Amino acid sequence: MRLVLIGAPGSGKGTQARRLCERLGLVYIGTGDILRDAIRLGTAVGREAQPLIDAGRFVPDSVANDLVADLFRARRPEKFVMDGYPRTYAQAIAFDALLAQQFLKLDAVIDLSVSDDEVVRRIGGRRICSDAACGICYNRAFETTAHPDVCDRCGSRLKVREDDGEATVRQRLAIFHSNTDALLDHYRRAGLVKEVSATDPVETIYESIVRRLPTR
Ligand code: ADP
Ligand code: AMP
Repeated sequence: MRLVLIGAPGSGKGTQARRLCERLGLVYIGTGDILRDAIRLGTAVGREAQPLIDAGRFVPDSVANDLVADLFRARRPEKFVMDGYPRTYAQAIAFDALLAQQFLKLDAVIDLSVSDDEVVRRIGGRRICSDAACGICYNRAFETTAHPDVCDRCGSRLKVREDDGEATVRQRLAIFHSNTDALLDHYRRAGLVKEVSATDPVETIYESIVRRLPTR
């Protein structure tokens, strides 16, 4: 299965992507995580990306495209879920070309829809594990950990993501809305888009996604 998840920041792409990977054996490819690793490691890409991410803006298409192309050429994933890429029409065109080069075809593009107010509420409660290798994500509004602000899985402290302040989230939402119609239209023309309401509980959304996947 080869999937792309599209949705506003905070719509639950990462949450659903990780479930899809665990349960369907897909490779997780999240450009946000790759960029945060690059920032942590202080690479040239990380230095270019950091001020943009902190300001709630996208990194240039060429940067996102190169990261994904390098990863596909190095690892040649057969079954994967894309979280946060493609995010623009230009990225979708570049990704189509990359997949064609690798003789791969997408099976579905899942459009997770949720209101801006719900996004702001969810991101306000998002806490991520400070150990990047663990990377697990919680929400203070509906999840408790065994010890406050400590990751149940690895025991590291939980932290607020640096770009999760409300003003930055509003900026990220504006950029998401201005790019996503053209992106979704592209995939609608290819007959790939499955609309899924992302306002239900996590497990209900997971089941709706799986029900919409083509059988192969
Ligand atoms: P994205 O990857 O789209 O930015 P996340 O998966 O990180 O979104 O989810 C954003 C926040 O919302 C996280 O704190 C997560 O735990 C929480 N969340 C995810 N799915 C749901 C849901 N269905 N209902 C309520 N909160 C959710
Ligand atoms: P995410 O973890 O998916 O929320 O991504 C965090 C941030 O990384 C975004 O707000 C963007 O600044 C940047 N980013 C991630 N993926 C992309 C992409 N495909 N194109 C442009 N910017 C991206």
